[in-house]
Amino acid sequence: MLQPITRAFLALLLLGSAASLPSYSQKSPQSLLILNAQIADGTGAPLYSANVRTLGGRIVAIGKLGPEPGEATLDAKGLVLAPGFIDIHNHSEQTLPKDLAAETQVSQGITTLIVGADGESPWPLASWFHQMQDHPAAVNVGSFAGHATIRQQVMDNDFKRAATPQEIRLMEERMRQEMNAGALGLSSGLEYEVGSYATTDEVVALAKIAAASGGVYMTHIRDEADKSFEALQEEIAIGERAHIPVEHSHIKLGTVNVQGKAGEYIGIIESARKRGVDFLADCYPYDAWHSNLKVVVPDKQYENPKSVSAALESYGGGSHITITEFSPNKTYPGHTIAELAKANSLSETDMYIRLIREGDAAHTEALIIGQSMIESDIKAFYQQPWVMVASDGGVNSEHPRGAGTFPRVLGLYVREKHWLTLPAAIRKMTSLPAQRLGWKDRGAIRIGAFADLVLFDPATVMDRSTFADPTALSTGIEKVFVNGVMVWDSGKPTGTRPGTVIGRKGAVLGLAGKTGAAELSHNAPTGGVL
Ligand SMILES: [Zn+2]
Repeated sequence: MLQPITRAFLALLLLGSAASLPSYSQKSPQSLLILNAQIADGTGAPLYSANVRTLGGRIVAIGKLGPEPGEATLDAKGLVLAPGFIDIHNHSEQTLPKDLAAETQVSQGITTLIVGADGESPWPLASWFHQMQDHPAAVNVGSFAGHATIRQQVMDNDFKRAATPQEIRLMEERMRQEMNAGALGLSSGLEYEVGSYATTDEVVALAKIAAASGGVYMTHIRDEADKSFEALQEEIAIGERAHIPVEHSHIKLGTVNVQGKAGEYIGIIESARKRGVDFLADCYPYDAWHSNLKVVVPDKQYENPKSVSAALESYGGGSHITITEFSPNKTYPGHTIAELAKANSLSETDMYIRLIREGDAAHTEALIIGQSMIESDIKAFYQQPWVMVASDGGVNSEHPRGAGTFPRVLGLYVREKHWLTLPAAIRKMTSLPAQRLGWKDRGAIRIGAFADLVLFDPATVMDRSTFADPTALSTGIEKVFVNGVMVWDSGKPTGTRPGTVIGRKGAVLGLAGKTGAAELSHNAPTGGVL
């Protein structure tokens, strides 16, 4: 599928015409006609050639169209036009309001980012939504309601135990409130401190509230290491008991003992899907994760040498864990636990315990990158039609996935490794997340859909972010449009902020007013549909 386009693009390069793409005037209220692109429509269908007209923020025509008198045109010969990418697992709730241009996201072709993942969400969501409506970003946003956030609202700092029935009732009320504000569903992070003390029943109770108003259950499961299989079974049980669609966050097998078992893991998911569980997953294209130091030791015996040493071994040793942030000692970041142990003449286990103690004393915890996944598992996951692409990063994130995820899949996994066809990869970035969220008018190139679009060069698209330089911008993403407005133009942000806040069923929140509970509204497609 890629070959003809690549050849066409190389021919274009030789002619020098790629540099002379006419630029589209942002001020024009007129329609825009994108000419000569290869269309990856988001459904997974083969690429096809067509011209696409946008008007009033929507796609209004597709086909053999000629420009109307005075109409703005954009010659996209040699480029692929795809729906804008929807990043269903993004951690920009705090960073996006401070950096509305979201360059590290827009430069990847992301046009919508979903926050509130892993059990943590802005509180209350209505305030965050209002903030994003009053000060829109370059990208659209939506949010899940976080289980840990709600749990802490009810239990405060007394969360290291199972909740009482009365506390669960209070959590249900808060969950209802967040769904009314426009949450996309419930997210959980059952491997993390606050969420980990919850019983399955507690999570089911909140998932039922989300299900009652058409929400989704999105989860960082209880264990992504040695007990990955038990955690997966719990996740499936929650989906079945609450009758709710499930989104498995950043699917992975993260320790030596479970590496290479993707086939078995996929088999369990496949049989759940056959039983009718609406189970989808997302995956980031890296063999290293980014988290907190304490997730390494699953039994929470952070100062017990036996537990710590077994845990470090399960990740392949302290050389696989790098400190990225640690405020009590600025000399640690950039080094592995093995390196720090050696420098301090300690065993790796004792070095880990020292990091815990120094962190606890300063009421903080080291952030770490752990390298413990293997490529064959990542490949097996990505080749499942129910696995989508998501970054698990955010604006200016410390893991390269924040700035590189989508171009990396297109450049490395599609063009270089041939794991996926280009249309299949685009589907995983567009219509599949849209399907998960229940959004019908985004994630596809079709008449009436919102004009969230990305134009990229399939011959050059590639990530450039690395662990040493995690915010380096990718190459090959030429133009990005959000709601019909260009936000990225040949390597630079345009400065426009057309992003909206999106809720369940793709409703644009707050259009009818900005007070009280978010109001839901649908824009009818505008302009002449040809
Ligand atoms: Zn997570």
